[in-house]
Amino acid sequence: MRIWTVANQKGGVGKTTVVTSLAGLLAQRGRSVLMVDLDPHGSLSSYFGFDPDSVEPNLYGLFQNPSRTADPQIAHPTGVDGLYLMPASTALATLDRQFGNRKGMGLVIKRAVTSMADRFEHTILDCPPMLGVLMVNALAACHRLVIPVQTEFLALKGLERMVGTIDMINRSRSNQLPYTIVPTLYDRRTRAANRALEEVRQRYTDKVWGGAIPIDTQFREASRDGLPLTVSLPWSRGSIAIRKLLEHLLVQDKLKGKEVAKHG
Ligand code: ADP
Ligand code: MG
Repeated sequence: MRIWTVANQKGGVGKTTVVTSLAGLLAQRGRSVLMVDLDPHGSLSSYFGFDPDSVEPNLYGLFQNPSRTADPQIAHPTGVDGLYLMPASTALATLDRQFGNRKGMGLVIKRAVTSMADRFEHTILDCPPMLGVLMVNALAACHRLVIPVQTEFLALKGLERMVGTIDMINRSRSNQLPYTIVPTLYDRRTRAANRALEEVRQRYTDKVWGGAIPIDTQFREASRDGLPLTVSLPWSRGSIAIRKLLEHLLVQDKLKGKEVAKHG
């Protein structure tokens, strides 16, 4: 199973949109895909029609009973064949206060997701915009981190913080976590967007995907029908960009796999 995390310590940058779109594409290609909603706001869950105030079983239960094997029912089917979701609960907002210091809390998601490795080929984790138990869990569980970055003034600030977090996480991992920066909400007509894009590429060079996800008004309007946009609007500019992004990520993973095989 390949596990990707989509995170940035900033809200509104397109994280959840990237999760639904990538997951939708993979499912359309016949892969079995699990999405995990680690954001207490539950936007990913709501997107697929699950109410984070009432859906059961949900992720909060996993943290309450970390030693118990995850209930297979926690991976709920969505309206798309092969696409499943572990929903959030609004109770997740209290997690840091309740269990933040308890031992073993950083590996709850890794354990739950890997217990389903025979059911799913791909898992994509959607993160809240702040560093805490949930993001730490996601970073510990994944093979690759995808960081959407809004192409606007001051985008680098949030990105710097996220890269600092990766450095911290890497100190407790046996291998370095590979990451890919994804420019989003790109408006090629504005100078601010082009300047931000240039800055990110200059600073993070080969860590940055060569494309950018454009601002796509269809994306904003069509997001309420419970289908990934890559499924409902496959020929929108946003979906075309996400397809290229998926190819890039799959190639990066393959290259990484070869490197690991060579160096052990
Ligand atoms: P995050 O998960 O980082 O908070 P979202 O994916 O929820 O961000 O996106 C924030 C808002 O921007 C949503 O209303 C979403 O529909 C919209 N959005 C995301 N990506 C695009 C895009 N490429 N073009 C236009 N609107 C977008
Ligand atoms: Mg989100």
